[in-house]
Amino acid sequence: MNLNNYQRIINNLPKNVRLVTVSKHQSPDNILQVYETGQRIFGENRALELQEKYNFLPKDIQWHFIGHLQTNKIKNIIAFVSLIHSIDSFKLLNEVNKEAQKINRVVDVLLEFHIADEMSKQGFIIDEITEYLNSTNYKELNNINIVGVMGMATFSDDENKIRNEFKLLKSYFDILKENFFFNNDSFKEISMGMSNDYQIAIEEGATLIRIGTAIFADI
Ligand SMILES: *Cc1c(COP(=O)(O)O)cnc(C)c1O
Repeated sequence: MNLNNYQRIINNLPKNVRLVTVSKHQSPDNILQVYETGQRIFGENRALELQEKYNFLPKDIQWHFIGHLQTNKIKNIIAFVSLIHSIDSFKLLNEVNKEAQKINRVVDVLLEFHIADEMSKQGFIIDEITEYLNSTNYKELNNINIVGVMGMATFSDDENKIRNEFKLLKSYFDILKENFFFNNDSFKEISMGMSNDYQIAIEEGATLIRIGTAIFADI
């Protein structure tokens, strides 16, 4: 496997930005090659695949869940997942809390916002979140810790469009920080940017970028 692209991404990463190496569909062997360079954060989008890889691979990997999470699969990953990027419904948030409570864990999560044109992309709109964060239901969730926001831009080669969508996500982060999380230092993550748009995402304030293809394409 050729790690040149990976090294180039790592070498150009600003200090405040962390790389999530998206390893979905990749063999444990390929993952280990990246792991051996020092990378510890890997992202998966299917619960059962993540569970298998967790069992097989070194235990100091920080596994991030980045895909649409079905509520009946939460139990497969809840004990070890280090960050769930893709909370896209209140039902899911409540179910994650419930499963985390069963094993006495507090799990870090991001709220996924809908910022793209495509209806196929999941996510909240800002008004439903601001309303929810004032609700008693939210205040009863003691086993989740909301540490930031996540979003996916429209798949497009219009750089301005992508940039504006990332700006929108950053503005949601700022609204939530200012109104609900000003006392919470752990609320600091903006997960945005993939292989084709991560440079724009970094310019617009990403703290976590999620890259798969650009790293593994050279195998
Ligand atoms: C697959 C995936 C990525 C990585 O996409 P690439 O284009 O391969 O870099 C990032 N985020 C999510 C949510 C994904 O499903």
